[in-house]
Amino acid sequence: MADVTFPAHGRSADEILAEVAELRGGDLDWRGGRAFSLVYDSDDAELEELLETVGQTFLHENALNPFRYQTLLKMETEVIGFAVDLFGAGCGSMSSGGTESIFLAVQTARDAGRERGITDPNIVCCDTAHPAFAKACHYLGVRQIRTPHRDDGRADPAAFAEVVDANTILVVASTPCYPFGVIDPVPEIAGLAAERGTLCHVDACLGGWLLPWWERLGEPVPEWGFSVPGVTSMSADIHKYGYTYKGASVVLYRDRDLYQHQIFMYDSWPGGLYASSTSAGTRPGAPIAGAWATISHLGADGYLRLAERVRNATRGFMEGIGAIDGLAITHDPDLSLFEFGSVPFSDGSPGPDMDAVCDVMDDLGWNLDRQQGGLHLMVAPGHDKVVDQFCNDLAKAVAEHGEARGGEHVYGGVV
Ligand SMILES: *Cc1c(COP(=O)(O)O)cnc(C)c1O
Repeated sequence: MADVTFPAHGRSADEILAEVAELRGGDLDWRGGRAFSLVYDSDDAELEELLETVGQTFLHENALNPFRYQTLLKMETEVIGFAVDLFGAGCGSMSSGGTESIFLAVQTARDAGRERGITDPNIVCCDTAHPAFAKACHYLGVRQIRTPHRDDGRADPAAFAEVVDANTILVVASTPCYPFGVIDPVPEIAGLAAERGTLCHVDACLGGWLLPWWERLGEPVPEWGFSVPGVTSMSADIHKYGYTYKGASVVLYRDRDLYQHQIFMYDSWPGGLYASSTSAGTRPGAPIAGAWATISHLGADGYLRLAERVRNATRGFMEGIGAIDGLAITHDPDLSLFEFGSVPFSDGSPGPDMDAVCDVMDDLGWNLDRQQGGLHLMVAPGHDKVVDQFCNDLAKAVAEHGEARGGEHVYGGVV
């Protein structure tokens, strides 16, 4: 922990802003296509300016009691309505992010399970499911059963069928999963859930706000949402491919009876009746206003335009990386993110050490995520300008590795 003491005297705003500017100088610049996965850069200057204005406007408001803030109430109701319409859901809530949406879905399933007499609940997930499920289980006293992914990176419905039991309150499918960008077989998983009398959550935190447009672009998208019988809940983060700033997600349900379990009411408090539908009490207004403004600004045609840029950039990255000797995309992705790893060079010698390759990429100013099986690439609209440079630098990084081992490999440029 940094050695700090509580400030004895306040300082002027100018002094603090100067310090902030200095500190920020060394931070990751998410503009310009150099950052991946943490920020979803829409590369839309008008949207960025709009979000800054709207964020400032609602900075001090509290969405705890929506009846005190009519504008936030209207905006939140509309954002939920937009999501219900887009995904064909029945009802739902806004939450602060994917983790909270998943937490609420697991809590709702647990409490619905209690009604069916389940006292030792478990959920069934593929090992590729987001750690938020493990975290929710840890908090909520639910056991998580994890099955290995298939060779294609997807959840294995046959493995699910073996472990789902009378205490299973929820089975999970990811659309797509974060590590590999592949969509789990939702019809089989939801079908199994329905057959065994349990619930099925689709984790579309990542893909939810991109998949509808991906489909409209004519890309092959397997059946994945509420159109699939047996899917009972879904999470979809607006602060990812919905392009708003952080703190906005939706958790959706097929029907209101299930959703009721999410609502907390407390009438034994001297402070009066307390009701809330998510885990937070005081809630910031800015993420609600930001989500509403973003969806209103982009509309379906705006989202489609951005999806096309994401699609084209993804193709460019995949072709460029696929052309580099010693590298391969590990699982054929369904969407705009994937893992690539090391394979033997064409002369049969062992492929590059991906940690060393990533070190070189870090030095060149890229900020890739390291995974167990390689490096992770998540594509946003703003990346379409850097595809060639990225692939050239990556080829260089692989070549440098080859030279470090004796220079027996020569790698040409790519793309
Ligand atoms: C990001 C993500 C989550 C968790 O969302 P947070 O907003 O980070 O809390 C859950 N599932 C998937 C597939 C994700 O990509």
